[in-house]
Amino acid sequence: MKLEPANISFDAQGQPFAKDFDDVYFSQDKGVEESNYVFIAGNDLISKWRESKSPSFCIGETGFGTGLNLLLSAHTFLTLQDMQATSIKRLHMLTTEKYPLSKEQLIRAHQNWPKLSGLSQELVKAYPIAIQGLHRIELAGGRIIIDLLLGDAAEMLSSLYVPQHGLVDAWFLDGFAPSKNGSMWHAALFEQIALLSKAEASLATFTAAGAVKRALQASGFIVNKRKGFGRKREMIVAQNQNTQRRINYQQQAPYFARPSAAHKARKVAIIGAGLAGAICAHKLSQLGVQLDLFCTGETVADGASGNAQGGIYPQLNAELNINSEVQIASFLYARRYYDGLAAMGADFAHQWCGALLLAFNPNVASRQQKLISKAQYPEALVSGVDAIQASKLANVDVHHSALWFPLAGWISPPQLVTNLLAIAKSSTCLNLHTGTTVSDIQHTSQHATISVNGEVLKYDYVILASGANTPNLLQQTHDFRLTRGQVESVPSTQTSQNLSTLLCHKGYFTPAMQGQHAMGSTYVKNDVDTRYRDSEASDNLHMHRKSMGQHQWMDELILCDRTLADKFKGRAAIRCSTPDHLPLVGQVPDLAQQAIDLANLYQAKPAQHYTLSQTSRRVYVLSGLGSRGLTTAPILAETLISEMCGKALPLPTKLLNALAPNRFLVRKLIRRQDPFS
Ligand code: SAM
Repeated sequence: MKLEPANISFDAQGQPFAKDFDDVYFSQDKGVEESNYVFIAGNDLISKWRESKSPSFCIGETGFGTGLNLLLSAHTFLTLQDMQATSIKRLHMLTTEKYPLSKEQLIRAHQNWPKLSGLSQELVKAYPIAIQGLHRIELAGGRIIIDLLLGDAAEMLSSLYVPQHGLVDAWFLDGFAPSKNGSMWHAALFEQIALLSKAEASLATFTAAGAVKRALQASGFIVNKRKGFGRKREMIVAQNQNTQRRINYQQQAPYFARPSAAHKARKVAIIGAGLAGAICAHKLSQLGVQLDLFCTGETVADGASGNAQGGIYPQLNAELNINSEVQIASFLYARRYYDGLAAMGADFAHQWCGALLLAFNPNVASRQQKLISKAQYPEALVSGVDAIQASKLANVDVHHSALWFPLAGWISPPQLVTNLLAIAKSSTCLNLHTGTTVSDIQHTSQHATISVNGEVLKYDYVILASGANTPNLLQQTHDFRLTRGQVESVPSTQTSQNLSTLLCHKGYFTPAMQGQHAMGSTYVKNDVDTRYRDSEASDNLHMHRKSMGQHQWMDELILCDRTLADKFKGRAAIRCSTPDHLPLVGQVPDLAQQAIDLANLYQAKPAQHYTLSQTSRRVYVLSGLGSRGLTTAPILAETLISEMCGKALPLPTKLLNALAPNRFLVRKLIRRQDPFS
């Protein structure tokens, strides 16, 4: 999970050199010309972009390095777009990197290319920490989408979800000379290139090595040699000749397929005005989609997204399991998303103050110790601190050792939701219908319909982002869990004002916002009453005292001669989660039909034997976020909208499967259990 950093030096001209590979990143002094010649001209990109009728174009690259190829391609594409010389809306770039440069090294390398400085600054801001995985970065207002795959090229490419017609239009094979980096240029990489390529995919590489030529031919490419850049005699260009796309069903089971929506999303209804609904609305508004947003409350964010402050940090296990991977991918994307919003001027209270997860009992202390000693995660994400360090970071006394998450923080969800909807309203036609109950969600192959006050309304798509109302709307309760949670709002004291990080234990305690701390939270299963309870305020207080230990600053805060209800102004809401604690995102499946289609799953035949008769559907769900919506909602909304709008998906197949709305049905059928119990 943690990656080895690039081992590089810079020469007097500021050109990077890879010491471990004894090779350059690009031609000394002529990097831009080389990149233009070998990769952009080698794939004939300018003519392709001028002539293409597709909404998007995808470049696949091995060896992101400094990002020169990518920045130059983005710059060239945006220039064509600005001249209205291409009708392509988005340039999507998949790029792999096993030994990432640090942010500082990236900045240094980019200093040589002043004309790329605007894009470079955007890229540097969003550049992820060195942790394996798929990191989606948007530049130029979403006209450029970079999926930076940190990890080994072949392994990372094999993790991607590949739509029916393939993913990549043009390949840039970089990655040091084959003679110096044999472990990248091996058969598994060429296998992935074949699996990901669209029928007309082209390829260019600086090398003319015979082994590369033969491997490409074996993968179904017609290979040609042309004059290499500068003093290089030859380079390779190639054209995919595979008439039929190969699919690896072991990697991509047909019953977890995510068919792209077959119809354009012009008019969409979103049900729910919490975080999930507002982020979907914001993202769809950037694509110019007309929106109706419905919520039952008189105000937006009146459910689980209504607490004044919410913590945001990834919940990790010592073992890197699926849940941890979902958390990491979600958290890092969420940080980029919220940073992007703030940079655009969105005005929502938030603070990237870091979070301390306190080792508040021996079991937690031993789990934390295990996580630290396994050393799977980079320190930029999480590290261990003792009680003295924890107290320094928190700026108040803390008695426990802790896990420290420097990138974490808190956000005010209602302010975020209000801002997102205001931004959405300013860029598209968004009608907000508060106090409105939606029922009877139906869909045909032509449209989806909902009933509102007895009237039937038609949309291209409907999105259920309806939190605790989702089980009712789907008429499907067995895959969801509803839990009541009460959070207290605690007036700060002079000492507690000093608290400078989020404190988490069994509950959580935030730094003060406008003189109030948030202290949460209770978890009462199957209780959907949202009235405030004094008894739960006591529970919250008791839990905090027990977890935190005796602290003068805590005593000052919560000792009072009034009743708790006078002292705290809390609120309760209902969270919707799932049996495996992971959210659901995707098209709402026809479970009854799938139970028939997949009835023999228990026979464990190869995956391609289990196809679904259902085709693309028009109702989507984004739910089961539990109390982690601030962390997970942005990447889930991006996943949903990418699926709905035919964009590449921002999560690897393994995680998409773990979030699939039909996964509980599939698991039960594999075990030959009643899928509807
Ligand atoms: N395209 C880059 C640019 O625009 O700066 C230059 C690429 S540099 C010649 C080769 C890159 O491939 C290095 O950044 C190196 O770390 C990366 N690399 C080497 N082996 C790799 C592997 N197995 N998987 C992914 N990346 C690898």
